[in-house]
Amino acid sequence: MAKVLIIGAGGVGGVVAHKCAMANDVFDEVVLASRTLARCEAIKAQVKEMQGRDIKVAQVDADDVPQCTALLKTYRPDVVINVALPYQDLHIMDACLDAGIDYLDTANYEPPDVAKFEYKWQWAYQDRYVAAKRMALLGSGFDPGMTNVYCAYAQKHLFDTIEYVDIVDCNGGSHGKAFATNFNPEINIREITARGRYWEEGEWKETDPLSVSAMFDYPGVGERRSFLLYHEELESLAKNIKGLKRIRFWMTFGEPYLQHLRVLENVGMTRIDPVSFQGQQIVPIQFLKALLPDPASLAAGYTGKTSIGCLIEGVKDGRRKKVLIYNICDHAECYREVRAQGVSYTTGVPAVTGAVMMVTGKWKGAGVFNMEQMDPDPFMDDVAKRGLPWHIQDRS
Ligand code: NDP
Repeated sequence: MAKVLIIGAGGVGGVVAHKCAMANDVFDEVVLASRTLARCEAIKAQVKEMQGRDIKVAQVDADDVPQCTALLKTYRPDVVINVALPYQDLHIMDACLDAGIDYLDTANYEPPDVAKFEYKWQWAYQDRYVAAKRMALLGSGFDPGMTNVYCAYAQKHLFDTIEYVDIVDCNGGSHGKAFATNFNPEINIREITARGRYWEEGEWKETDPLSVSAMFDYPGVGERRSFLLYHEELESLAKNIKGLKRIRFWMTFGEPYLQHLRVLENVGMTRIDPVSFQGQQIVPIQFLKALLPDPASLAAGYTGKTSIGCLIEGVKDGRRKKVLIYNICDHAECYREVRAQGVSYTTGVPAVTGAVMMVTGKWKGAGVFNMEQMDPDPFMDDVAKRGLPWHIQDRS
């Protein structure tokens, strides 16, 4: 049996805590630590009520490496699941090295002052993790995460060569609010307002933010307009899927959402640089975050489904082939099971499966790994049983 320590008690942290508590055949001890102890306490009470299990809670500022290391040395978990914000990634990776503990996250590091999603900062830990004989698993959420594993599965079982990948992400649900984001608003808005980028024939190509769109037919949801965005898994997949000619990422947005975003951008509310306000410096996007609904609070009453997958085209046995590997997730069912909405759920479940792979030794290695570098089969089996069944549709 293993011990897991979760850092971050937001929407995703809540799902991870529930799901680790439900995995009582793998984890005999679950610790949830975050900046605000009250949020950990609230999740602890909910886990006790719904799963009948006691979890431990602790307060930590994960940006304080010595404090985080001391926490890890106190509890000595087998793995840390980092579901705080991307800003904490490097600090938690440092603490895991200091304490000699394996590390997992769901989003790549980005510096607070530039909206740049790149793996270079975390890949730079490779030699240190190898030397310490520790494992760091990067991006074990849905996208990145499941999408990487779907590509690895396609490469292993469905294709001789994969040439084109389009990652297609649709939230066809409705939370009833005029404007809200489904995960941390600051991270979400930084991602969407950044320039679009995709990889083709060995080169990165840029587009203006949200300037390229296309219609996709999403299983369980239907046709939806989808916008080309840069997303972090493109970087590792372009490197690790051999023979690839092009990879892009698409996400659906409704017109009311885009209209709100345009206005917020036009008035400067999405800026990430500090501005002077009444004698103090404030960062507009952080102020906006304080005004917007907490993503976890959207869960009650959320209806509809998410439908996310990889549309993959290539060659098998000399013939061209195109498939969609995907999952459909129902917001209301997630709420019934773990009091979460579908976006938190689809991120939290693969994080738990990733941790299960690590502590059971099904995935092991020394160094820093992206998901597609590991064997997809045990992950695909586990994640389906844990709540995210997947399907393959022929789109040839
Ligand atoms: P939330 O904002 O709801 O939660 C973040 C949590 O992290 C909060 O509890 C926050 O504490 C805590 N936190 C922030 N800073 C620190 C710190 N210095 N020390 C300790 N705890 C800290 O975010 P979400 O739950 O929506 O998202 C969590 C992560 O999941 C993010 O990194 C996000 O990018 C990622 N994600 C990944 C997806 C994927 O598919 N791969 C999809 C969606 C999200 P406090 O309560 O005090 O604010």
